Amino acid sequence: MGDEMRYLNTIIVGSGAAGLSAAVQLKRRGVDNILVLTEGLAMGTSINTGSDKQTYYKMALCGSNSDSPVEMARSYLSAGSTHGDLALVEAALSLRAFFNLVELGVDFPRDRWGRFVGYKTDHDPATRATSVGPYTSREMCLALIREMRRMKIPIEEHRFVHKLLTANEDGRKRVCGVLAVDPEGEQHLYAAENIVFAVGGPGGLYQHSVYPAVHSGAVGVALEAGATACNLPESQFGLASVKFRWNVSGTYMQSVPTFISTAFDGCSERREFLAEHYDGADTLCSDIFLKGYQWPFQAARAFSGSSRIDLFVYLETEIRKRRVFLDFRVNPSGYDPAALMPEARAYLNRSGAHQATPLARLRHMNPAAAQLYLEHGIDIENEMLEIAVCAQHNNGGLAADHWWESVDIKHLFPVGEVNGSHGVARPGGSALNAGQVGALRAAEFIAARYSNPTLDQRKVESIGGQALTECREFLARCRNARVSQPELLRELRSRMSRAGAHIRVEGTLSEAVSEARELWHRLDSDGCALKDAAETTRVLSLRQLSLAHLVYLESILYYVRQRVGSRGSALVIEDGSNIGDLKSRHVVPEDVTFRDKILESRYECGRVQQRWVACRELPVGDTWFETVWAEYRSGGIYH
Ligand SMILES: Cc1cc2nc3c(=O)[nH]c(=O)nc-3n(C[C@H](O)[C@H](O)[C@H](O)COP(=O)(O)OP(=O)(O)OC[C@H]3O[C@@H](n4cnc5c(N)ncnc54)[C@H](O)[C@@H]3O)c2cc1C
Repeated sequence: MGDEMRYLNTIIVGSGAAGLSAAVQLKRRGVDNILVLTEGLAMGTSINTGSDKQTYYKMALCGSNSDSPVEMARSYLSAGSTHGDLALVEAALSLRAFFNLVELGVDFPRDRWGRFVGYKTDHDPATRATSVGPYTSREMCLALIREMRRMKIPIEEHRFVHKLLTANEDGRKRVCGVLAVDPEGEQHLYAAENIVFAVGGPGGLYQHSVYPAVHSGAVGVALEAGATACNLPESQFGLASVKFRWNVSGTYMQSVPTFISTAFDGCSERREFLAEHYDGADTLCSDIFLKGYQWPFQAARAFSGSSRIDLFVYLETEIRKRRVFLDFRVNPSGYDPAALMPEARAYLNRSGAHQATPLARLRHMNPAAAQLYLEHGIDIENEMLEIAVCAQHNNGGLAADHWWESVDIKHLFPVGEVNGSHGVARPGGSALNAGQVGALRAAEFIAARYSNPTLDQRKVESIGGQALTECREFLARCRNARVSQPELLRELRSRMSRAGAHIRVEGTLSEAVSEARELWHRLDSDGCALKDAAETTRVLSLRQLSLAHLVYLESILYYVRQRVGSRGSALVIEDGSNIGDLKSRHVVPEDVTFRDKILESRYECGRVQQRWVACRELPVGDTWFETVWAEYRSGGIYH
C-alpha cells in the first residue's frame, strides 16, 4: 500500500439504504469532502433482501384517525427497553424521510386523491405501514444510488473497513479515521473528522440466518474500538427458507402448507411432525395461517399461540437433528377450511382462496410468491421447501444519542441496523425508517457542528501507522496458522444458533461463552490460515465476527442470569429442563421491571463490561412556537 493517508471530512462506511441516504443528506447540506467506502453497492441486506410485502413504517397519512409523533413514539415504546427521545425522533422524522424517498422515485402506492394508503403491521395500532412490494429496501437503494451518482458523490467499492482509528480529545475518545483492505489484500488508510458507520446488522453471526449470504456486518469493528452497544440480546427470529434465504411469512403461511420433517438425508422417514403436538388439525391449521402475519417468533405466543410452530420446528431441527420442509402440494392431514378459526376463514373467503391445494391457494392469492422460488431454482410444484427458524434482525446494536452520535466515541455515527435504537419489539417496517431517520440526523448534526477541520493530521498519521503495524503483525501470525477461516466461521455460527438464538438456557450459554472467549483469544494471538493475500478480507472479517460473537453471547448470558426472563423473540428455559419435552412450566417468565432499563455492553481491556441504564423518558418539551424558533435560530438544538 501507499502508507499515505487521505483526509476527508466524513467517511460513510457501507452502502445499504442507511449509508447511501447519509451520503446524499450530507452532500445536500454542503458537506462536500465525503467518501463512501463499501464492500460493494451490490452487497449488504437492503439491496439483497425482501419479503412477501416488505414494509416501511411511517406516521399514518390516510384514513380518518389522527396520528402524531408522540402517538407513534408510544408504539415504539410499548414493548419496553427503548429510549423515549430516540422513539420520538424516529416518529417525528418519519414523514420527512419517507417523502425524501418518494421524491427520489420510490413508488409508494397512493390513491387518486394523493393519499398514501397504509396497512397495519405487527406492533402497529394505526395502519402506518406501506410497501412497494417484495423489494422495498432494494428500490430504496436503487433510488438513492441514482441520486448519489447524480450528485457525483465519490465512492470506493471493494473496501472492507476492519479498524476504526481513535484518538483522545479533551479526555474523551473520538474517531479519526479507518483502515480498510481491498480484495488483493492491500491496506488503505483514511483520516476523517467523522465516520458514519452504516455496516448493517450482524448477518454473519448465525448458522440459521435469513440475512443475505453476502452480508456479514461489521459491528465487531466498532466493539473493538470500544464503542458501547445496547440491547444486544434483543433480536428477531422467524421461519425462513434456507436454500434461498427468504421469510416464509404472509401468503406462504396463509395458504396453509403442510409441515414435513425427514431424516437428515432429506427424504427418508417423512413425517407430519406438528400433528403430534396438537390436539386437532383445526387448531394446528389455524396456527399455521396466523404465522402469516405473526411472523417473528414471540415468547408470549410460544405455548398457546402461533409461535408454537417455530418452537416445534426448532425441536425437530436442533434437538432431533431432522430436517423440516414445507410441502405446498398437499393439505395438512385433516385440513378443513370450514373448521378454521373465524379470522382465517374470513380472510380466505374474502380472498377467494378455496382452491384444493396450498400451492393453488398461494398462486391465487399471490402469484409472485410462488414464482419467486422458481426464479431462485426451487420449484415448489415438484419439491418441498426446506425451512428453519432463522435470525433476521437485531433490535440492539451500537448505543447512540438523539443525533445518532455514539454515546462514548465522539464523531462516530452508527446509523441503520447497526444502531441499536429499538427495544424488545418494534413495529414491522421500523428498521427501514430508522435507517433513513438516523442518516438524516447524523448528516444534519455533522453539517451544523462538525464540518470544520479539527484533526491534528500528524497525530492521526501516527495512529494510522500504529494500526497498520498491528494489522501486519496479525496477518504475519496468520501465515503460520493451520486452522482455516471457514472452519472457525462454522464453529462460531453454530455456537450462536445453538446458544444465542431464540431458545436460551443458562448452562448452554455459559459453556458457549467460555468457548467463544477461547476462540477470540486464540484467533487474536495465533491467527487463522491465510494462504494468499486474496483471503485477507475474509480473515479480517472473521476476526471482527469472532469478537462480536463473544460480546453478544456474554450479553445474552448476563441477561439470562439477571432473570430478565422470556420476552420479545427469546424464550429463556430453566437450566436442566428437558428441551425435547418443553412445557410452559420450564420457562422463565418475563420480569417486567426490566422494561424500563437498557442493557449496555462494552468491550474494554479484554473484558465485556455490562450495565443497566434507565430508559430515557419520552421528551415532553416546550413546543411553544416562539421558544422553539429562538432555540432553532441560535443553533441551540445541536447542543
Ligand atoms: C429477510 C429480511 C426481511 C426484512 N424485512 C424488513 C421489512 O419488511 N421492513 C423493515 O423495516 N426491515 C426489514 N428487514 C430489515 C432491513 O432490511 C435491514 O435492517 C436494513 O435493510 C439494513 O439496512 P442498513 O443500511 O443498515 O444495512 P445494509 O443494507 O446491510 O448495508 C450495510 C452496508 O455496509 C457494507 N459493509 C458492511 N461491513 C462493511 C465493512 N466492514 N466495510 C465496508 N463496508 C461494509 C455492506 O456491504 C453494505 O453495503 C428485513 C431483513 C431481512 C433479512
